[in-house]
Amino acid sequence: MTSHPGDGAYDVVIVGGGIVGAGAARDAALRGLKVALFEKGDYASGTSSKSSKLVHGGLRYLEHGEIALVFESLSERGVQMRVAPHLVRPLPFLIPIFEGNKPGLELMNIGLWIYDSLALFRAPKFHRTFRGTRAALELEPQLRPDGLKGILEYYDCATDDARLVVENAIDARSLGADLHTYTEVTGLVRGAHGRITGVEVKDLLTGAAWTVNTRAVVLAAGAWTDEMIQRFDIPMRPLLRRTKGVHVVIPRERLPLARAITLISPVDGRVMFAIPWRERTVLGTTDTDFTGTADEVCADAADVKYLCDSGNGYFPGADLTPDDVIATWAGLRPLIAPNEGVDESETSREHEIFTRNDGLVIIAGGKLTTYRRMAHECVTKTVAMLRDLDGAIEPKKITTKDRPLPGAVGLASTDLDGVAAIGRRLMEEHGLDVETATHLCGVYGTRAPVIGAAIALDRTLGERLDPELPYVWAEIEFAARHDLARTIEDVLARRVPLLLVARDQGLAIAPRVADILARVHGWTDDDTTRMLTAYAAEVALSRRWRA
Ligand SMILES: Cc1cc2nc3c(=O)[nH]c(=O)nc-3n(C[C@H](O)[C@H](O)[C@H](O)COP(=O)(O)OP(=O)(O)OC[C@H]3O[C@@H](n4cnc5c(N)ncnc54)[C@H](O)[C@@H]3O)c2cc1C
Repeated sequence: MTSHPGDGAYDVVIVGGGIVGAGAARDAALRGLKVALFEKGDYASGTSSKSSKLVHGGLRYLEHGEIALVFESLSERGVQMRVAPHLVRPLPFLIPIFEGNKPGLELMNIGLWIYDSLALFRAPKFHRTFRGTRAALELEPQLRPDGLKGILEYYDCATDDARLVVENAIDARSLGADLHTYTEVTGLVRGAHGRITGVEVKDLLTGAAWTVNTRAVVLAAGAWTDEMIQRFDIPMRPLLRRTKGVHVVIPRERLPLARAITLISPVDGRVMFAIPWRERTVLGTTDTDFTGTADEVCADAADVKYLCDSGNGYFPGADLTPDDVIATWAGLRPLIAPNEGVDESETSREHEIFTRNDGLVIIAGGKLTTYRRMAHECVTKTVAMLRDLDGAIEPKKITTKDRPLPGAVGLASTDLDGVAAIGRRLMEEHGLDVETATHLCGVYGTRAPVIGAAIALDRTLGERLDPELPYVWAEIEFAARHDLARTIEDVLARRVPLLLVARDQGLAIAPRVADILARVHGWTDDDTTRMLTAYAAEVALSRRWRA
């Protein structure tokens, strides 16, 4: 019999390699469980690379009275800043207040006091209130001046969602988890009394299929949860209300912002953001109910127009049109549907964990921000279920709360000074220029010197992938060798995301990227052609709205 990767017997198999699945694999492996994870695409290829990329308390949830969620999120924000300072960084936000806005400036000021206090006054900085048009425009001159009553400044954090997932996966693997991307779970295997004894899986790159034995299965399939419930004949009602959220990426010079801006869309009164992200400005997000298949989600022309029109309401000088849009991304919020009879607008961002007595645990809902706690709670409930079903199982009593993510291991200080020191080292020891060094230490943290050393040996690896962006060729091989990338899309959509920030979305360099990956992974010419076609299709999906 042929043996396949991941076909041993496990305590738990996790379905889905988004932030929740990767976080749960890390938590389970840290606690000494024998764990495997199967993801049908790349890590974070689902919603976890399509978020607003904020690690935040969620100021607007205060309005809905979700105090517990805000408190938990703010406390996690503090943890993430400590264990991953290279990935979770303070970002100032402005809330401009115009004539007639509700809540007004003074009420919002009180709201922000509550927000600061829920963070136990450990926000990166306390909020400040600036009264009057002049003071507001001094902070953000792009804003529409008429009716501008003042502005509030507060702090939350920005992150790189896809990288957060990858670093969780890398750490899970170093702790002994068995992780497999491009491997779909196609069925559940049941034994006596319907007890789950395994999963059927299929390698989507080779077509190989096999069965994996496990005592428990955790479904961490995000927006795919209901599709899985139906496909695997799990006797449960559909759990989710899925809503689509679209972001558009525009050149920084079209809307040069130093801080993120919280906007109330003049189109429909929804809260949205304009965010400086990497070398661009991002506007998002929409929020519309979605009923299609999760694999097909993409922006449409109405989404793009809505975001441009909403931005223009605040920044009339920018005069944004769809022609300004470089790229889009679209994701599905896996929100837990309210029970019958409850108003849909009451749909919460909280997560839920459903433990069944047949070996299956389903986790859905929640936020990127709270992933670590969700993952821990999910593993704890899985262990409790296994104890009820099979008796003794004694995981270690340990949490990820104080465990740095890989790029923060060995940081001299767990704040931005520690990250900046790596940047200085890259310049002094490897002769990198300031922009490349700043980019590399900000993205890779303490793993950046591996890239610096490669460039020191071969200066051509320090050349830019795109003249406008500080990303360099050495990152491509690093993505394949150290960052678990298997395809061109993995590299250009999520590790070095030219798909999101380059004007040509990385199409021009894709063949050279393919050559590097072919060398590392031993691709045939056919493999290379297939991978290039798949990447072109991904770019086309993100541009479908133009048609
Ligand atoms: C527009 C938008 C903006 C957001 N902004 C923020 C934000 O700024 N901050 C924040 O905290 N949260 C934010 N969120 C929420 C956050 O992004 C999600 O809650 C989170 O990413 C969900 O992670 P997940 O692991 O549950 O799902 P996913 O990341 O979707 O992972 C599920 C995975 O399961 C895989 N899968 C499905 N079926 C199978 C199968 N049969 N076999 C193997 N694998 C399978 C899928 O391929 C997918 O990768 C936002 C969400 C959206 C949509």
